[in-house]
Amino acid sequence: MSDVKVDIHPHPMAFNRELKGTEVLLLYDMLEELPEAKRARVQRYLEGGGGVVILHHALLDYGDWPFWTNEVAGVKYFRKAAPGQPASTYKHDIEMKIRVVKEHPVVRGLKDFTIHDEGYKGMWFAPNITVLLETEHPDSDRPIAWISPYRKARVAVIQLGHGKEAHENPNFRQLVANAIRWAAKRLD
Ligand SMILES: [Zn+2]
Repeated sequence: MSDVKVDIHPHPMAFNRELKGTEVLLLYDMLEELPEAKRARVQRYLEGGGGVVILHHALLDYGDWPFWTNEVAGVKYFRKAAPGQPASTYKHDIEMKIRVVKEHPVVRGLKDFTIHDEGYKGMWFAPNITVLLETEHPDSDRPIAWISPYRKARVAVIQLGHGKEAHENPNFRQLVANAIRWAAKRLD
């Protein structure tokens, strides 16, 4: 993406500084906890309208931060079982058929496609997410890409993207590029 300047901050360093000047925060980490000072930075960034793309492993981020799971990501992966709540599951190397179920800039140019990837299953979803892609695969939850219920900033969430096969899939590449440009308010 020649129109995008990328800064890579391996976790947990991404929020060691204020996020001012960042147009899109793309998360691909898998960090269980975020200290209060860093939470405040992320929240300030979002309230200032900063875009976010939450990719694959980052669906597991900050599971004990309700603002993040309920209002921003719109999803929660249960790392451990709790009374009345089985743990979520993952399955590598599955062939998922993906259906485009809504018109939206994030899925522009995409038609239904197949991808070799990892499925996540048994997650909680916020009732007010806007689902863009779905699968019927038995080893995955149905929503595959969605728009967050958060309204002060643009937040897109993509379950796909485990490894090389997914990253080389042109549909995945288009999806991520669209999501970055949409979250940055460069695509409407
Ligand atoms: Zn993975």
